Amino acid sequence: MELIDGFGRKHDSLRISVTDRCNIRCFYCMPAEGVRFKPQREILTFEEIERLARVAAGLGVRKIRLTGGEPLLRSDLPTLVAKLAETPGLTDLALTTNGILLADQAGALKAAGLERLNISLDAMREEVFQQISRREGLSRVFAGIFAAIEAGFERIRLNAVSIRGLTEGEIVPLAEFARRHGLELRFIEYMPLDAEGGWSAGQVLTGEEVRRTIEREVGRLVAVERDHPSQPASDFAYVDGGGRVGFINPVSDSFCQACNRLRLTAEGQLRNCLFSTVEWDARRLLRGGGTDEELAEMMAACVGAKKAGHGIDTPEFIKPSRAMYQIGG
Ligand code: SAM
Ligand code: SF4
Repeated sequence: MELIDGFGRKHDSLRISVTDRCNIRCFYCMPAEGVRFKPQREILTFEEIERLARVAAGLGVRKIRLTGGEPLLRSDLPTLVAKLAETPGLTDLALTTNGILLADQAGALKAAGLERLNISLDAMREEVFQQISRREGLSRVFAGIFAAIEAGFERIRLNAVSIRGLTEGEIVPLAEFARRHGLELRFIEYMPLDAEGGWSAGQVLTGEEVRRTIEREVGRLVAVERDHPSQPASDFAYVDGGGRVGFINPVSDSFCQACNRLRLTAEGQLRNCLFSTVEWDARRLLRGGGTDEELAEMMAACVGAKKAGHGIDTPEFIKPSRAMYQIGG
């Protein structure tokens, strides 16, 4: 059995949310106040996650990315990383973090076998960081980035969400910072996955606009070929040889036709898309005596039901009832 959907897209990538909790409150992801996190008993245990990962690898999943919420809030995360790193068939184990707790954990995560790290950094100025995250902490993110370099992570990637009216002034400083430290930088368009229904198309600062700013103020760019057809980012190299910058444009230029991703929420629900309005309850099988075969069948059914695309730009689009932190970005 393989995870191939009705449009022929083969799924070899699984995003696992390990918690819905977070230590900041980015407005594009979480509500400012009154967040109701899932109780501990509803969150999958490491053993349950490992089992699902093993079943997924048996179906052709090669890449796992741990995310959340903020994954570094999950206690003892390196233990899970070490177990997943041993999963037969997996070739790529990655993590996305806001970086706030990374200075303390980078070494242990590297030692446990984590291969790749994406660190979210939307702004270079504390003031803008706070407008987005509603918390202090930018200096801790920088400390986390430098600790990750020190720990020996290669090809560290910075992810920056772009928001019109807010982050235009961050584009050039971010690009220069990334170039100075040999880090890849990817700008991501703001998607309608916030918790308070505040998203509007007018707030989407498109990747194309950001690219033009960089070309004008940082350096000329030339497009580079995608490493893999399912890679969502369009990457560019600086003509002067000073690194790369990429653009993930889910709103202005959807990459759904090449999507290879399956998602698992922190409480064990399988989703075939960020924008899915239905979920498959893997936890019910895990805790109710389900066999590996039944889990595999559920994954295949979830992938099989995948729609052609998210349709954000169509009148039929329905915003998912769950926000980003509840899904796993
Ligand atoms: N807490 C970790 C972090 O922030 O890196 C991991 C989880 S977070 C949900 C994963 C990524 O999704 C982050 O890079 C974040 O900026 C991005 N993200 C969250 N909400 C988004 C939205 N509405 N549109 C675009 N990207 C979003
Ligand atoms: Fe937390 Fe990441 Fe969501 Fe920001 S984007 S609130 S850091 S989970």
